[in-house]
Amino acid sequence: MIIVLKAGAPQNQAAEIIKELEAKNLTPMPMYGVERTVIAVIGEERDIDVNHLESLPGVEKVMRVVKPYKLVSREVKPESTVIDVNGVKIGSDHLCMMAGPCSVESAEQMEAAAKPLAALGVKILRGGAFKPRTGPYSFQGLGKEGLDILRETADRHGMATITEVLDVRHLDMICQKSDMLQVGARNMQNFELLKEIGLTKKPVMLKRGMNATIEEFLLAAEYILSKGNPNVILCERGIRTFEKGTRNTLALATVPQVKELSHLPIIVDPTHGTGKKNLILPMSKAAIACGADGLMIEVHPNPSEALSDAQQQFTPEEFKNVYKELDPIAKAVNRSF
Ligand code: PEP
Ligand code: MN
Repeated sequence: MIIVLKAGAPQNQAAEIIKELEAKNLTPMPMYGVERTVIAVIGEERDIDVNHLESLPGVEKVMRVVKPYKLVSREVKPESTVIDVNGVKIGSDHLCMMAGPCSVESAEQMEAAAKPLAALGVKILRGGAFKPRTGPYSFQGLGKEGLDILRETADRHGMATITEVLDVRHLDMICQKSDMLQVGARNMQNFELLKEIGLTKKPVMLKRGMNATIEEFLLAAEYILSKGNPNVILCERGIRTFEKGTRNTLALATVPQVKELSHLPIIVDPTHGTGKKNLILPMSKAAIACGADGLMIEVHPNPSEALSDAQQQFTPEEFKNVYKELDPIAKAVNRSF
């Protein structure tokens, strides 16, 4: 249920309503917009007297939210959310580019990736320290050492970081070392992990599970918001279909669909979405054209030697050429990198 306050209603009226809801064992989640405050209410709605709530000072209307997800929905918050990560405003007119290797492999490898990326203006450096590999004998990541290397490299170049969290047991450590968390496709429905991340305020990029519907994707985000962390960025990274020509089927219709249903930013990962270098540029262009708020692209100084995803990573030079080609598309949709 949502309680929409009158435009310009004073904060103390919102505070009174919140107090009353809490006394009824409900969880009010206020969202203070530029024009008006909206209070989303989580909990057993059956006992709520809508007429009474509508009579309270400052209340314009009370609405039941029909969709199974509430806090992520545009019904509850009509204006798009912008998430600030060290000054990078994800969801704004500025498109966000996250780039870096699939895995953190060494300090030298990260430096060789980060330096040219920073020179191109990339602000968020990616690199997996804990890797979700299909087989147990594949490289599993450098763990804590990898987090340190990612942090130190990014600091040298004034970049923010994003890295994947696989396990609740690593969450505190990763929160201390990284500016952003990533929940990978394989963990999109790891509900205990989502709830724990919800108790932090860390910006988190939630990747779509490879067999998740859009509704399940948004419900996974709802887990994080419902615990109090509003800083969720969605990421379309392709789903599994019968098609074998690409690693995954990059479902770009998700972008405008999610934009209609939710206020959260959504970025696209054309690297994992296609698994093919020659498809990354066209899919990046298409992602920007259909409204994505940014891209995540894998870049490795020596892709053929990479310890994971060797076939799909760009060299910094290849990335540079792709990045240049995206400017006119961004401009066409009134955005820029
Ligand atoms: C990644 O981005 O490092 C990754 C493992 O991607 P996904 O979870 O989308 O497979
Ligand atoms: Mn990868």
